[in-house]
Amino acid sequence: MANEYKKTMNLPKTGFPMRASLAQNEPKRLAQWNEDKLYEQLLKKNEGHEKFVLHDGPPYANGPIHLGHAQNKISKDIINRYWAMRGYQTPYVPGWDCHGQPIEHKVEETLGTEKFNQLPTVKIRELCRKMAVEQVDTQRQGFKRLGVLAEWDNPYLTYVHDYDATDVEIFKAIFDKGAIYRGRKPVHWCTHCHTALAEAEIEYGDEVSPAIFVRFEMTTVPAGLETYEGNLWVDIWTTTPWTLPADDAVILHPEADYVAVVVDGRAELMAEALVEKDCAKFGYESYELARRENGEVWRMTGEELCHNKYKQPIFGDQGVEGEFIYADYVTLEDGTGIVHTAPGHGVDDYNAGMRFGIPVVMPVDDDGNFYKGDGMGTGGPWSGMNVNDANPKIIEWLEERGTLILHEDITHSYPHCWRCKQPVIFRATSQWFVSMDKTGLRKDALRELEKVKFYPAHSRNRITSMVEGRPDWCISRQRNWGVPIPAYTCQDCGETVMNDATLDKVIELFREKGSDAWFTEDPASYLGDACVCPKCGSHNLKANTDILDVWWDSGVSHTAVCKHRGYLKFPADMYLEGSDQHRGWFMSSLMTSVGAYDVAPYKSIVSQGFTLDGQGRKMSKSLGNVIDPNKECDTRGADVLRLWVASVDTSTDVPCDDTILDHVGDAYRKIRNTFRFLLGEIEDQFDPATQGVPVSELTAYDRITLAHMCEVHDTVARAYEGYRFNVVFRTLYDYVTELSNGYLNATKDRVYCGATNSPERRSAQTTWAYILSMLIHDFQPILVYTTDEVMPHLPASMRDNQEHAALLDWYQAPMTTVEYEPLLKAHKALAETRSAFTKAYEEATSEGVIPEKTSQAARAALTMPAEALEELEATGIDLAEPLVCSAVTVAAGDEFSAAVSHAEGERCPRCWNWRKLGEDGLCCRCHDAVEGASEQG
Ligand SMILES: [Zn+2]
Ligand SMILES: [Zn+2]
Ligand SMILES: [Zn+2]
Repeated sequence: MANEYKKTMNLPKTGFPMRASLAQNEPKRLAQWNEDKLYEQLLKKNEGHEKFVLHDGPPYANGPIHLGHAQNKISKDIINRYWAMRGYQTPYVPGWDCHGQPIEHKVEETLGTEKFNQLPTVKIRELCRKMAVEQVDTQRQGFKRLGVLAEWDNPYLTYVHDYDATDVEIFKAIFDKGAIYRGRKPVHWCTHCHTALAEAEIEYGDEVSPAIFVRFEMTTVPAGLETYEGNLWVDIWTTTPWTLPADDAVILHPEADYVAVVVDGRAELMAEALVEKDCAKFGYESYELARRENGEVWRMTGEELCHNKYKQPIFGDQGVEGEFIYADYVTLEDGTGIVHTAPGHGVDDYNAGMRFGIPVVMPVDDDGNFYKGDGMGTGGPWSGMNVNDANPKIIEWLEERGTLILHEDITHSYPHCWRCKQPVIFRATSQWFVSMDKTGLRKDALRELEKVKFYPAHSRNRITSMVEGRPDWCISRQRNWGVPIPAYTCQDCGETVMNDATLDKVIELFREKGSDAWFTEDPASYLGDACVCPKCGSHNLKANTDILDVWWDSGVSHTAVCKHRGYLKFPADMYLEGSDQHRGWFMSSLMTSVGAYDVAPYKSIVSQGFTLDGQGRKMSKSLGNVIDPNKECDTRGADVLRLWVASVDTSTDVPCDDTILDHVGDAYRKIRNTFRFLLGEIEDQFDPATQGVPVSELTAYDRITLAHMCEVHDTVARAYEGYRFNVVFRTLYDYVTELSNGYLNATKDRVYCGATNSPERRSAQTTWAYILSMLIHDFQPILVYTTDEVMPHLPASMRDNQEHAALLDWYQAPMTTVEYEPLLKAHKALAETRSAFTKAYEEATSEGVIPEKTSQAARAALTMPAEALEELEATGIDLAEPLVCSAVTVAAGDEFSAAVSHAEGERCPRCWNWRKLGEDGLCCRCHDAVEGASEQG
């Protein structure tokens, strides 16, 4: 703009650059934070205040950080920074889950399985620890780069001695209550990883399995079917033929009716409801139903048929029999309404079998191979064979014997090992369990959950229903890299030895030497007097080798971290993790805490969704849709990634891809430009402490705008407190957009062209300073680098005399709710007026009424409802300024409307407003401004 009056104007100037160059500048700022010990300063600032403890859920120390990690840590940082601004002291100790299978697996891969298996446990554990340390370092660098403030130099790691000891301490507390027991029970078993798996380590995926219908020959005759003696069968259906060697019962529904289908001289029992469907399927073309002597169809309920017997399908020729029992879970949707049962291979089977005293037969070893032998409890004809290989052989064998009715393949959801992705089997093994009901753990946990606050509220149902339906927790694993289950076996009588005396010695040992000592020290050397078998008196005890479920490790962090670090607190104020942790860390923390102390370890839970790509797919290397947070930091910058986290609704699954990040980048630039625009008239030009105008003396337009700003600020605070970052983002982003189109665009004339010290200009600058200050504070928890970058450009009075944005206190709005609320109606009326004017102005322009095509050359006759008119007039506002036009008239009418005509007067060459010009050719205001400037100069 060539304007000879330019030097008489207050044009914007600021050292805050338009281009962010975040990728280059953020690392420098981060280094400065480290040097200034910003995290420590933050704790110091709020020392002696109430604490807010967000207890970090430990990510698994494995591989570089991914977007889900970034979302998690950024969310936590936003929350901590917000509460720190509110005056809470926010000690935040990051942690890592260091034990467990993924690391052990990696070590095994690096060494090769053969070499791995030859190494002593202690050596394997040493390699695992080394790997964990490296992984922790890699991830720590990634997390710090995101701008997350934490006690990075002293994180918690689950392999340190005190942590090992804590694992056993909690174990002892729960053991003493009587909730820990050793039992033989079917558990998910990975034959590939040779270990029992917890429900949390299971992933469900589709699998093709052989589904077979088989007939078992009955050895008893239900009353009324005597005619068919010797040719009476019961039809079953199974998708795991390999479990037939362990079959010892069939389960019927207690109330369902069963009939006998007569075909080819045989009578076969099945549920009446399924006869038609199954016979069609089996190709039983001409069948009839067995009848009683009186001609009625023979039927009996499952309960009535209970305790009948049949020849075991594999070992029946040796005289082994199975028994009819019943259970409610049998459905009449598929199969025959009669379920083959092997209590050693299924939880439902096991539970149903227990009620009828059916023995648990388990013919399969750790590798998934049948035990060798001829009789029940071995693989019989398939001795030594892997169960998967045996499947087709068993089907063949049944077919040869004429007992196979039908074989088809079905695709169904089947449990897989989370680590090796192989299908798992159910297998009864000796394991350690935490009972959910023996000591009332389930009941107590449910009671404690009721006291916990959940964000979002509905996520409460998820963990609650999991606690309700949860089977006993199998806590033993057959691996190397973990904390041992502190049990011994008497070498003389085989008794399992564990008691308070031995547990206390183990706690002492671990605290002093770590859990490695379990594998190196002779129990007699540290157990002392406790080294005795209570059953036979022998002193010859051997340490067992099972280790604790890794979820136990992370689960006891409430004690190892929150209790043992005196500056934290128990229960913690908050746990925040992805929704998968309802069955993972939220659960194991709850179980160990309620088990040991009878209270939940957390007062509130924030549950977040997963990161997906823009089309809602999982991110994977093969799809090429992975967004790598490290890479994004090196290109777009951490603040853009943080703004993305704030922009999405983390209470559900969140999308991310390059297009989405591009949009977030646009939003970022808009926010940054608003900071810069405001700084342009404040940096070195205005200090609200000395030049500010009291709120009561602001112009009407400024006061109305300020009232709305206070409302926005309150909305933002409420959104932060409900952990709805997307509402924070949306509210602030919309506000910034509204400002740049409306208020800032309208008042820049007053600020640029008004006399430097005129009350009107100072009034606008005061308002701009309030807005800038509010935006810096409200964005601080999210845009940590950018708000920090603004700080040196602000007068000290606008930054609480702090150098770093993280140290700001929460923004104190210039008006209370009582003060600002009455002005909101005027603000609303103003917005409606503006949109009516804009519409009329655009029409007038297109009709050629305003050839200059600038609203400054227009005047408006406004109409609005009487109530709105009253609200606006009460403030004394001149509507020409917000509408950026030359003059307005206002009248009451039915609705908001405007008639636009050309301005009167001429264009002032200095400010381009249309006014009546004076002798010097300037408008009155510009005349004064120029005079004032030349007087000063
Ligand atoms: Zn596995
Ligand atoms: Zn003994
Ligand atoms: Zn002018």
